Amino acid sequence: MFHYDLSNNLFTSIGKINITDVNNNKYNFKEIYIDTKKKEMIGSNVSVALDEKNFGLNEANDPRFVANNILLTKDKATLSKGVFTVCKKREDKCPPWSIKAKKITHDKIKKNIYYEHATLKVYDVPVFYFPKFYHPDPTVKRQSGLLVPFFTKSSTIGSGVATPYYWAVNNDKDLTFSPKFYNNENPLFLGEYRQVFENAFLTLDAGYFSGYKDTSVFKPSGSQNHIFANFGVFLKNKCRKRNVAIKNLIMNQRIVVGVGNIYACESLYLSSIRPEKKCKYITLKQCNDLAKAIKYVLKKSIKSGGTTLKDFKTLDGTPGYFKQKLMIYDCKICKCGAKVKNIKLGGRSSFYCNICQK
Ligand SMILES: [Zn+2]
Repeated sequence: MFHYDLSNNLFTSIGKINITDVNNNKYNFKEIYIDTKKKEMIGSNVSVALDEKNFGLNEANDPRFVANNILLTKDKATLSKGVFTVCKKREDKCPPWSIKAKKITHDKIKKNIYYEHATLKVYDVPVFYFPKFYHPDPTVKRQSGLLVPFFTKSSTIGSGVATPYYWAVNNDKDLTFSPKFYNNENPLFLGEYRQVFENAFLTLDAGYFSGYKDTSVFKPSGSQNHIFANFGVFLKNKCRKRNVAIKNLIMNQRIVVGVGNIYACESLYLSSIRPEKKCKYITLKQCNDLAKAIKYVLKKSIKSGGTTLKDFKTLDGTPGYFKQKLMIYDCKICKCGAKVKNIKLGGRSSFYCNICQK
């Protein structure tokens, strides 16, 4: 039922109504009142399906909220008793996470989403309670706050939800803390710290996982953690005048923490450096490439649950890592077609290609 009151500039609609805005967000109301003079709109029993592309999310996510009431003005949207989530709708199952709040305000000018008396729930279990907090609008690039949580899935660890928190410390430093909560596994905590210097760039990666609930050949028991400094200049300084093989240097836990034998072989292959090459001959560019390669290899391993490149032995003494994911370690033939070489360095098997690595 539509009604337009000319003298009060009031437009009323009772009964189901659907509206799609210019950003492809779909609104569904039970009733709405629009004041065309004040340019305000009040709606009740509202559900809003937001376009996931506006949030930079993929199709596995379904950003939306429901609320008792909504007040829309040119600059603000205020929802009372609202619930916000990005999880896909599944039949009679609660979304893996949601933020429930007494009041949610989206300030389109400041580009922030404010919550009052908010509870973050994961798998229907309250995880955090915030009397007041805000996170930046997904269109904002660099501002501290809780980022939009997203759905995550891996073959070893299963599906879950990541709730990243971003802290812009100042103009040259920032930090991201990303806890991941899983359906059937213990949570995984990841952090990344970045700092820009005049001639260098530092990335610190850290991760902690208390261990798999059920262990198997591919899921070793015990907790796992790593911390790594990607600091090209730092590495270059450590290499200066040293007459040791680069592989032994990066495996020295007092210099670079967290690089095991497989990580070292894979990283040197990615950065085209021979494992036995003397540190003093390594250039700054090679140090930077190597730092990037190590970080990439560590990240990839964490993404697949931390076991991809773990150098552990099964009961019969054979290595228990996923061979197919390795590029050079324990391989027979390199991608270029050459035979892979295997030499002993510091008593450890060191695989490399004498065509691709110089
Ligand atoms: Zn090769």
